Amino acid sequence: SNSGDAINSTLLHGKYELGRLLGHGSFAKVYHARHLNTGKSVAMKVVGKEKVVKVGMMEQIKREISAMNMVKHPNIVQLHEVMASKSKIYIAMELVRGGELFNKIARGRLREETARLYFQQLISAVDFCHSRGVFHRDLKPENLLLDDDGNLKVTDFGLSTFSEHLRHDGLLHTTCGTPAYVAPEVIGKRGYDGAKADIWSCGVILYVLLAGFLPFQDENLVALYKKIYRGDFKCPPWFSSEARRLITKLLDPNPNTRITISKIMDSSWFKKPVPKNLVGK
Ligand code: ADP
Ligand code: MG
Repeated sequence: SNSGDAINSTLLHGKYELGRLLGHGSFAKVYHARHLNTGKSVAMKVVGKEKVVKVGMMEQIKREISAMNMVKHPNIVQLHEVMASKSKIYIAMELVRGGELFNKIARGRLREETARLYFQQLISAVDFCHSRGVFHRDLKPENLLLDDDGNLKVTDFGLSTFSEHLRHDGLLHTTCGTPAYVAPEVIGKRGYDGAKADIWSCGVILYVLLAGFLPFQDENLVALYKKIYRGDFKCPPWFSSEARRLITKLLDPNPNTRITISKIMDSSWFKKPVPKNLVGK
């Protein structure tokens, strides 16, 4: 509609008060915001590109977001509502206060037990969404947040389709600043299994949690892609043999033989009980 900026002022400025910047990704900024009627704090994602909202696209995005609201899971950031102006999209969502898992790894690799706790929560979220036909397609530690109790929450779930709309319009360029987490079948080719691609990314994440660095790295992009295509990585000596075995199955460059979620949940590394005192640490 052409009343975009009117919607903006009545819904956003009349409804929410924007606060400090919480973080930003490759194409959005996320602010602390307060819902004026209830006083409730939310995170407000603002996609600030000019004229990204084409006729009809907002309706589709709204439908997708309301579908996402039916996907409630303790390890997935809940979306509350979406608003738009002519030049911006605003997405109100659950506020997660503990920062990115990325920042935690930046301070050093995790113990296997801690990594297991986060990985179990990640897989639980991914399994839940896949069972409902929702794929993330941009899983990486920057999109994994921690709440005050140390619980992991995946952000951006279900928004991948939304970013695809923007990309395919040629209005926004690739949302992934680094291809380091992208499955081999996703590079270049079109049409891939979103579930298998997410599982690959989970493998890269698990490796990063345990190693403190990426499994596939190269300053040269072509060389990096070659490593990813071949599944060419080495596990550092401190990885347990069970962790190695699982990571090798996750980072299988052939999507057809790559491990499935149910097999991940059945693996000995995954099933080891997490000490109670670790939760929230
Ligand atoms: P982009 O799509 O540009 O990557 P994200 O949705 O990943 O944007 O958000 C960018 C950053 O904002 C995240 O990496 C995180 O630091 C912060 N952020 C995102 N969602 C939330 C949230 N629900 N609560 C708190 N911080 C968030
Ligand atoms: Mg992001």
